[in-house]
Amino acid sequence: MKQTSVVTGAAGFLGSHLTDLLLSRGHKVIGLDNFVTGSVDNISHLGGNPDFKFIQQDVTEFIFLDCPVDYVWHFASPASPIDYLKIPIQTMKVGSLGTHKALGVAKNKNARFLVASTSEIYGDPLVHPQTEEYWGNVSTIGPRGCYDEAKRFAEALTMAYHREHKVETRIVRIFNTYGPRMRLNDGRVVPAFISQALKNKPITVFGKGTQTRSFCYVSDLIEGIYRLMMSDYDLPVNIGNPVEMTMLQFADEIIRATKSKSKIVFKPLPQDDPKQRKPDISKAKKILKWEPKVVLAQGLTDTIAYFRTKV
Ligand code: UDP
Repeated sequence: MKQTSVVTGAAGFLGSHLTDLLLSRGHKVIGLDNFVTGSVDNISHLGGNPDFKFIQQDVTEFIFLDCPVDYVWHFASPASPIDYLKIPIQTMKVGSLGTHKALGVAKNKNARFLVASTSEIYGDPLVHPQTEEYWGNVSTIGPRGCYDEAKRFAEALTMAYHREHKVETRIVRIFNTYGPRMRLNDGRVVPAFISQALKNKPITVFGKGTQTRSFCYVSDLIEGIYRLMMSDYDLPVNIGNPVEMTMLQFADEIIRATKSKSKIVFKPLPQDDPKQRKPDISKAKKILKWEPKVVLAQGLTDTIAYFRTKV
């Protein structure tokens, strides 16, 4: 008997890669998405796969499934600062009402539940690198508040279902991730810089470019998340790549990797843009025996090859 996984946001960047991994490990997958930021292109290769069933629906509405379910992976959400600035209410609804519905499925089916949380719950962090014990520094009313607070609520609701209803739950805090299937125009730094570089257009570095991020390749991230779901650890775990760099260094790296003629231009720094971000992954290393394997140069080669087909 195959195990059944439900993936919300299955047509998104991470949801579709997770779906592929689950199918390759022998799961049946029921994917849900309403295509607000997901794309049918990310799952079109699964057409005709008897182990994959797709339901087009908004996960803030009641989710009706008439079969047993073993795992619920809640990945539905806009994830780019530009997206959630445009649709802050939908972002808050999917993080709150959507998490409630997904937890309801897990409770009803006696399934294990994993929520895709985020390094954004640490806000503009005052502790560096960020450990899971850090409570964060988030502006509730700033432009990122809709996403950050929805994800913080999602974590709190997950723990409430765990404590009150004894649902088996997992919380992954996902740090910046990149790879094929990111949307070219989603506004995040990886697709923005790569598409600018491939068109030999100016690379738009925000602020002075001294803010830092740490980028994890998607296959590493999904493997870490899979191990977390299969572990018996029910407190939050950071998954990300701890190799940290400034956005100026990252722009240079993209110019080098694409052999672009682009020059760097500086644009205003968006409000509340975190100044530094780097995961402390000691927990993942110890508990999941996981650490990232794909170095940036390799991950970028694969990502750039994908974007070349899209620009
Ligand atoms: N960024 C940039 N130029 C761009 C897009 C983003 O310099 O065209 C910067 C942004 O200010 C942030 C970092 O790159 O400091 C990562 O931004 P992203 O939107 O990818 O995600 P975040 O980590 O801020 O959620």
